[in-house]
Amino acid sequence: MKRGLTSKRQGSGTSRRCSPTGGVAGVLLLCWFWFQWPALYFAYVGSVAAANADTWGTEAGLLSSGQPRLITTLHRVERGRSGGISPVGTAAGLLGALVIGVSAFPWSSGSGVLVSGVSGIMGTCVDSLVGATLQGEFRCGRCGRLTERRVHCGHQAVLEKGLIWVGNDLTNLLCTLTGSVIGWLVFGFMQ
Ligand SMILES: [Zn+2]
Repeated sequence: MKRGLTSKRQGSGTSRRCSPTGGVAGVLLLCWFWFQWPALYFAYVGSVAAANADTWGTEAGLLSSGQPRLITTLHRVERGRSGGISPVGTAAGLLGALVIGVSAFPWSSGSGVLVSGVSGIMGTCVDSLVGATLQGEFRCGRCGRLTERRVHCGHQAVLEKGLIWVGNDLTNLLCTLTGSVIGWLVFGFMQ
């Protein structure tokens, strides 16, 4: 599972992904403030690490010149396809996760770094797997491109694979949730 992570969007619009991601992290942080339960803090770190790993991995994957492979079949796919993974994307994703662990160091020391690394990798793997399987992908009738948007070139695109209602937001939400659960579990194993 260390070959590579995500590169999934068609090159634009990074702001949309913040909504579900920030939601999970925000709820966990509030719960932690309320209950003061350390596991909740590590779940929070895990969710942010997974989200950041996804962001960094995706951007690096789009910027790199290498051609990604689909996480399920390992067949080469165009850059920007859902579920595509690459070595550069993986490395950047891990780095993006570790940055979160390091920034949480004053509150969680080495445990936070470990949690963030594992959560980041697992979260982005789930993201890529969902992107390669369940996430809807559409073919634009105008330009012929594959896209994760239902509308392309101002026209309705045709569903080519996956489920019509599984979009990028849901995929990112699953990535973040995975990160939080893994963060919680890793913390639990360290006790
Ligand atoms: Zn088009």
